[in-house]
Amino acid sequence: MITKWENLTRDEIAALDKNKTLILLPTSATEQHGAHLPVGTDAIILSTLIDKLVKEHRFEAGNLVFAPQLNVGKSNEHMGFAGTLTFGTQTFYALLHDLASAIAASGFKKLVLFNSHGGNTDMLNMISRDLRIDLNLDVFVFDWWFTDFWSEGLQGLQESDKYGVFHACELETSLMLAARPETVHMELAVDEAPNPCFTGDKFVTVFGPYNAGWKTKDVTKSGVIGAQPMLLVKKVISFLITRVRSFLIYLKKWQKLIINSKEDLQCKTRRNFHL
Ligand SMILES: [Zn+2]
Repeated sequence: MITKWENLTRDEIAALDKNKTLILLPTSATEQHGAHLPVGTDAIILSTLIDKLVKEHRFEAGNLVFAPQLNVGKSNEHMGFAGTLTFGTQTFYALLHDLASAIAASGFKKLVLFNSHGGNTDMLNMISRDLRIDLNLDVFVFDWWFTDFWSEGLQGLQESDKYGVFHACELETSLMLAARPETVHMELAVDEAPNPCFTGDKFVTVFGPYNAGWKTKDVTKSGVIGAQPMLLVKKVISFLITRVRSFLIYLKKWQKLIINSKEDLQCKTRRNFHL
């Protein structure tokens, strides 16, 4: 079964087999996306994908339950542009911890932090260990920017160069044109590569490995980081379908993986677990 937490009754939630149920907490953002995309871009793309999963797919291996999506995250890198909403570090940590505690209190054992905004990633990786230790939850972080989730699907489709897919870019513009075209103002779309001091340098780069603690205004004037040549909307829809399918493969593996169990089983499952 694939469903949303909000659609289940109290008794249906209580009756779910907790060993076979993955709770997914979708985390997102409300932040500037250049002049041409709405501030809800990350949240809209995420909810589009989730709605597609819930409506069009089945999950035989167990239950996938999407907790209510958080449409505000940690976006302080975008402050200075109008429209950005953000939690502070302590608030966001406390909020995620409280939600995970409530999910654990309903008896669930497995939680996926399902993230669509790069500014949330450090927090999610950090809190995943705390939630394991504090609540004995198995916690997985799925971040679509820092896995091959998008890059794998973009092979052979991407028209822009290395920095073309980053923020308010070829990928996000294309997805928004497919998901909610009436909110996209293509006449205002621009290309902007990152400030040269963040490219080609061995030590300071937007992609790491050494973090410069950059703010968006250090990297771009327009708020766009990337290019706008677009994947054809038709291609984006089939691309989205293949991405949804690949996400289900990850979920199946997590659903079967048991961390909180006897040590021998833990080693065995871990050995067989390849992403
Ligand atoms: Zn975005």
